[in-house]
Amino acid sequence: MSTDSLAFISGKVVAITGAASGIGRALALLAAAGGAKLSLVDVREQDFPALRNELRALGLGEADFSLEKVDVSDRSAVFAWADATAARLGRVDVLVNNAGVSLHVPIEEMDPADLKWLMDINFYGVVHGVQAFLPHLIRSGAGHIVNLSSAFGLVAVGGISGYVASKFAVRGFTEALEIELGLAGHPVTVTCVHPGGIRTGIVRNGRLGGQGAKGDIEHLAQAFEQDLARQSPEQCASAIWAAVEQKNTRSVVGIDAKFLDLVARAIPRMYRRLLIGFLRRQSRSKGSARS
Ligand code: NAD
Repeated sequence: MSTDSLAFISGKVVAITGAASGIGRALALLAAAGGAKLSLVDVREQDFPALRNELRALGLGEADFSLEKVDVSDRSAVFAWADATAARLGRVDVLVNNAGVSLHVPIEEMDPADLKWLMDINFYGVVHGVQAFLPHLIRSGAGHIVNLSSAFGLVAVGGISGYVASKFAVRGFTEALEIELGLAGHPVTVTCVHPGGIRTGIVRNGRLGGQGAKGDIEHLAQAFEQDLARQSPEQCASAIWAAVEQKNTRSVVGIDAKFLDLVARAIPRMYRRLLIGFLRRQSRSKGSARS
């Protein structure tokens, strides 16, 4: 995305969760290149120094950005961050609820503590962000909320049921929010983003539960990054900023996500049976290739 096409973001105050890596990091760097002021949070403090250096290299001064440790599942911390952002930067124009984690485990083996951990971040983190920032976004006169769902907020798959549930929840919450804001006449646009596979650390940074907990997350992460994650975080971030500029309420990112979107509309009941057949055939052919 060229700096010209980011002109719309110049001077805006942008708050992003999960900004230390992957899509959040790419969103932050593009917004910085476009001249935005940034309020960034994450829990991965080890990644903060490198990101700070990159932001400074893009010309941001200390007054133009902040990067701090805030856990989005901590409601009072998110509210304190929202108020501090408005106080420090004078306003808030855009909130991106991007922080998210993954959990690979069959439902039969799922530990409720792992599911709670995931929902507290992927779903409640979004709820906290929206509620904490909404008054500031309304006050800005042209606010924008971007919530990260997934292609798995459009169709379900097995093995990551908690993740799928959290992303369907984000989608439902975001669409309901759009209706409430429209009815109230508030000047805030809402965008629900459904990316397909993006090459980030989402699997490597996530959890493996049940029998899989004995397995190797590195192996799973490599398979995801090589076989499924077709787009870079930068491509995804460009598509998200384009959706914000165009005030699109829904952004489906990547050819894989667009295909799944079509499947969800065209064969909403049949796709699950087809998926079971496809995955059975795949595991059989993998089994025979091994023997
Ligand atoms: P990532 O792991 O690279 O980035 C996620 C970031 O969120 C990390 O920096 C992590 O530290 C942060 N985070 C995790 N828990 C947090 C917490 N409690 N509080 C604050 N920050 C926290 O993964 P990503 O792929 O860049 O994921 C970004 C978003 O995009 C997620 O919501 C993810 O579900 C969604 N998404 C990703 C893909 C993909 O293929 N990578 C596809 C669809 C949707």
